[in-house]
Amino acid sequence: MTPDLMDAHAVYVDMDDVLCHSTRAFLRLVERRLGRCVAYESLSTFDLGVSCGLSREELDTVFGMFHSSEELLKIPPIGENIETLRQWTSRGVEIAVVTGRPTRAIEASVAWLDRHRVAYHEFVVVDKYRRFVMDRRAVSLEEFSNRRFRLAIEDSLDMATFLAYSMATPVALLDRPWNRNGTLHPRITRYTGYLSFDLLS
Ligand SMILES: [Mg+2]
Repeated sequence: MTPDLMDAHAVYVDMDDVLCHSTRAFLRLVERRLGRCVAYESLSTFDLGVSCGLSREELDTVFGMFHSSEELLKIPPIGENIETLRQWTSRGVEIAVVTGRPTRAIEASVAWLDRHRVAYHEFVVVDKYRRFVMDRRAVSLEEFSNRRFRLAIEDSLDMATFLAYSMATPVALLDRPWNRNGTLHPRITRYTGYLSFDLLS
């Protein structure tokens, strides 16, 4: 094991659209529930209400379904990224899975991670977007900003900017249709393709 990996701080890994195809699953629910077909590549902003042209009520309805245990457990994994986490942990890197899902989704989310044998050390719910109901198990952004990570992996440009600017954390922003507009902080690097071991070198 190389010394730099032994001394590593934890790596922050977002869950939705990093470890699983959440947005594709969300779009299937929009079609099933509202009969509206929205193309993945047309999602120009992270706000799915805006991107999909949903009213507040429609958005709440679809998110209500999406965050049920039944639907969460069905979300397909991104196997290549999960495999990279296994390689990292086998080299002594600590992984913190950090999600902005509502706290009612905790049990199903942990069950999903177990089902897909995701290697991680810590599961944290952070109130990233202030849009869901959170109980006391969630950490506020302010509280979370005291943490330090050697690297963060995100698909949300807003959260990536917070990590880079307020937490001085280098961020790999996984290239997705909804994060292509906007300026990247110098600590953010756009990353196309699957996670690889090179990210930690
Ligand atoms: Mg995400």
